[in-house]
Amino acid sequence: ITTKIAKAEREGRIWWSFEYFPPRTAQGLTNLYDRIERMADLGPAFVDITWNAGGRTSDLTAQLVKTVHTYMGLETCMHLTCTNMPRSKVDVALREAKQFGCRNILALRGDPPAGGGAWEKHEAGFEYAKELVQYIRQAYGDYFAIAVAGFPEGHPESLEGKKMELERLKDKIDAGADFIFTQMFYDFDIFAQWVRDVRAAGITCPIVPGVMPIQTYGGFQRATARFRTIVPQYFHDALEPVKDDDAKVREVGTQLVGDLCRRIIDPKEGLRISGLHIYTMNLERGSRMLLDYLALSPSPQQVKTLPWTPSLTPKRR
Ligand code: FAD
Repeated sequence: ITTKIAKAEREGRIWWSFEYFPPRTAQGLTNLYDRIERMADLGPAFVDITWNAGGRTSDLTAQLVKTVHTYMGLETCMHLTCTNMPRSKVDVALREAKQFGCRNILALRGDPPAGGGAWEKHEAGFEYAKELVQYIRQAYGDYFAIAVAGFPEGHPESLEGKKMELERLKDKIDAGADFIFTQMFYDFDIFAQWVRDVRAAGITCPIVPGVMPIQTYGGFQRATARFRTIVPQYFHDALEPVKDDDAKVREVGTQLVGDLCRRIIDPKEGLRISGLHIYTMNLERGSRMLLDYLALSPSPQQVKTLPWTPSLTPKRR
């Protein structure tokens, strides 16, 4: 990933990646494979597969990474968390990722397992993402590009204050991480200030903003409640009147999120952002509409010439 990011930056090109999560059912998995394959024509620089911390779909992450990489020819980034993970399980996950050709890991502490309760360290595992980053670097050298998470609105559990959180973020980069994916946000000013603060803290690596398209009003409400995302009043004002009409919600949502993205990548804003990490929620339409709105969707010819076009040759499924 790091080479692709650097190349796109040199050429002044905006790139994008798609994040998917392992579904719960066999039918869901089949649908997801079809969707990822269709969405490959949108030219993502890579595809992220989340890790269901301590949950029953974590084995599926590796399977998805393998299929997407080997049979679809797309570059992958595997999420990996510390939740409920003794070092031995971390080893298996990393070994498999390498075996499947995956060169990128998003190293995370992880959410607490479903069912509530506070996050607890596994006695034979790691407490913070920084330790996982250190471990991957120690065990694998430069084989993996490593990403870490950043929180423009602050990490919901942090009691230490903004300054300390930035130091914790810097610790992860100093431990060997190459770039930062952010949590989703909808408030441009909060993001812009955070980027300036991150730079002032001496962190120079690429920052990749996490963007969630608005696809249904219910989905938007659930996601923003779950992550306690700050939603600017003008988002509410625009979405409330159309909330019962899914097509209208997508149209208005695309405009709102699209305008936010335009500002984020606008060189005049001075944030030096060259990529967008799109939280697809395993849905196709919202991501497609967003890239169309931003005039980034490539034609079939252009897909082949994007600076990050994979050099992998897919096998037949
Ligand atoms: P850390 O960097 O370890 O930080 C966790 C908390 O501890 C922070 O409050 C930090 O300030 C604090 N801290 C760090 N170091 C120290 C220290 N030495 N002493 C005291 N406090 C410290 N979760 C999943 O389960 N699966 C996923 O696939 C997943 N994907 C994600 C993708 C992105 C882009 C993002 C932004 C989040 C994702 N998450 C995922 C959620 C993430 O795992 C949680 O938000 C988690 O609570 C924080 O993870 P972290 O890696 O930032 O943790």
